[in-house]
Amino acid sequence: MTCEKVRIRRDIASMSAYTPTTSLEVFAERLGLEAHVLIKLDANENPYGPSPRVVEALADLPNMQVYPDPESGRLRELLAAYTGVSAEQILCGAGADELIELILQLFIEPGDAIINTPPTFAMYSFNAPIYHARVVDVYRRPDFSLDVEAIQQAVARHSAKLVFLCSPNNPSGNLIAREDIKALLELPATIVVDEAYIEFAEGGSLANWVGKYPNLIVLRTLSKWAGLAGLRIGYGLFPRALMPHLWKIKQPYNVNVAADLAARVSLQDVDFLHKRVRQLVKQRERMEVAFAELPFLSLYASQANFVLNRVSGMSAEDFRDRLARAGIIVRYYQKPRLDDCIRISAGTPAQIDRLLEVLRTLSID
Ligand SMILES: *Cc1c(COP(=O)(O)O)cnc(C)c1O
Repeated sequence: MTCEKVRIRRDIASMSAYTPTTSLEVFAERLGLEAHVLIKLDANENPYGPSPRVVEALADLPNMQVYPDPESGRLRELLAAYTGVSAEQILCGAGADELIELILQLFIEPGDAIINTPPTFAMYSFNAPIYHARVVDVYRRPDFSLDVEAIQQAVARHSAKLVFLCSPNNPSGNLIAREDIKALLELPATIVVDEAYIEFAEGGSLANWVGKYPNLIVLRTLSKWAGLAGLRIGYGLFPRALMPHLWKIKQPYNVNVAADLAARVSLQDVDFLHKRVRQLVKQRERMEVAFAELPFLSLYASQANFVLNRVSGMSAEDFRDRLARAGIIVRYYQKPRLDDCIRISAGTPAQIDRLLEVLRTLSID
């Protein structure tokens, strides 16, 4: 119902909603199964959860009644040690998602263009219009590599200020070639590289380029490798010149005390968490080997904690539904370059055992 006293933005009134991942409880109710039997492989979450030290520390969380450190000072020192980038060039956020918004706020004046390279993480193009940015899509090639020349042309044609890139790319799993990024850094635009999954890749991080290029931003998160998705903690590595302006516009208390403490404890338990990362990579590789044998799946090589597959002989939606009936939740796509694609996150060995068992029964009928 509209009312002339309540005049929300017309563009938001007519905008379609983003569909985030559904919670286990909702899935369970929909499927008529108990939540604890479900195997959730649809959102690239860490099935092991956080470090046990985080759980311990949060059970005794002090200072809930006081506001958090607006500078996340101690956390940024630990992140500096972890990334090799100076703490002065690090800003923390309530997830990398918040930093995407902050970057748009910092750069975009109404009508400015950003370059998006689909198929990729939906949040860049979803957030852009809210901050009055115009999204220019430059599709990736069929193998999901970047079309560098088309990006260069699009930046020039639209005077785009920002280029959002994801490496390893969600949902295709491939890293962007370093030469491609190097070429794009020559452009008169700021290049934002989202490294949400970089801990699962073999090398490939551009963190050590942040000091060298005035127009490179690298985004990271503790959601995936450190299992903190529910606490919302991410960070960005920024060129020095941007920092004073980011500090001006950041919400002072964006990182809550629980997230701040959980992130610090995680960074003091990196060896343990990276061991789990290697276990997840092993399960991804196991899926890749097993899927290669299945006639109805063709897979794309991944450097992340998930694999993308194209389904044949049935629709991706049908495939998703069949797995769901067996209690396994995966993500399916029905959009350009991703028709009939499904993305499956790496789980624990037992979860992947069960997945492969169910997949083998699918191949019989
Ligand atoms: C999951 C994901 C994020 C979200 O990170 P948060 O820190 O949880 O906000 C960012 N980028 C990509 C590519 C992701 O897949």
